[in-house]
Amino acid sequence: MGRYTGPSCRLCRRAGEKLFLKGDRCFSPRCAIERRHIPPGGGGQRRRRVSDYGVHLREKQKARQMYGVMESQFRKYMTDAFNTPGISGNNLLRTLERRLDNVVYLLGFADSRKQARQMVQHGHFNVNGRKTDIPSFLVKAGQSVSWTETSRKREFFADRTDGLPKRTLPSWLTLDLTQMEGQVISMPPDNELPETINSRLIVEFYSR
Ligand code: SF4
Repeated sequence: MGRYTGPSCRLCRRAGEKLFLKGDRCFSPRCAIERRHIPPGGGGQRRRRVSDYGVHLREKQKARQMYGVMESQFRKYMTDAFNTPGISGNNLLRTLERRLDNVVYLLGFADSRKQARQMVQHGHFNVNGRKTDIPSFLVKAGQSVSWTETSRKREFFADRTDGLPKRTLPSWLTLDLTQMEGQVISMPPDNELPETINSRLIVEFYSR
């Protein structure tokens, strides 16, 4: 199955909650969830009873859509999570958090994960001083994420240096504002993994 190219807000309406896919708009009254919290299609008045399978499937889809990951890659992350010591659900979330596009988003270099993904693909970032344009690249503890020299001359970079979006950095990331360079100082700890995703449901979905 290919990448979803339809309206992002539709995914939030389907999930029944904010997935923060559109940057500033997600924090404004223009957010579709704020305006009318109804599922897409069929007028939205009818709420069908969701089966147990449906509950598990939706949680998996929600996580996949939040991070913009295709099914095949998500399944691979889950297999790796099962094969890694520790709680499989936490292992999965830790992997998702360490994706380069997510790190760029968390550092405030992009307004949304979707935008971060595009910027990485366009070659705007270095990892440890080396240009890296693979959004799924997993950043390790001790590695830095910085803008490439070419990107530093772009208008977009100047806009960013004027004011990064107000985002609370997790403890495993640091940001040097003068250099506009981020550093992963450790693996994301369990207590800082996203609470809005119920990883237990996802683990159960893939354990069926
Ligand atoms: Fe989701 Fe953002 Fe659209 Fe709101 S504005 S529905 S959070 S993508």
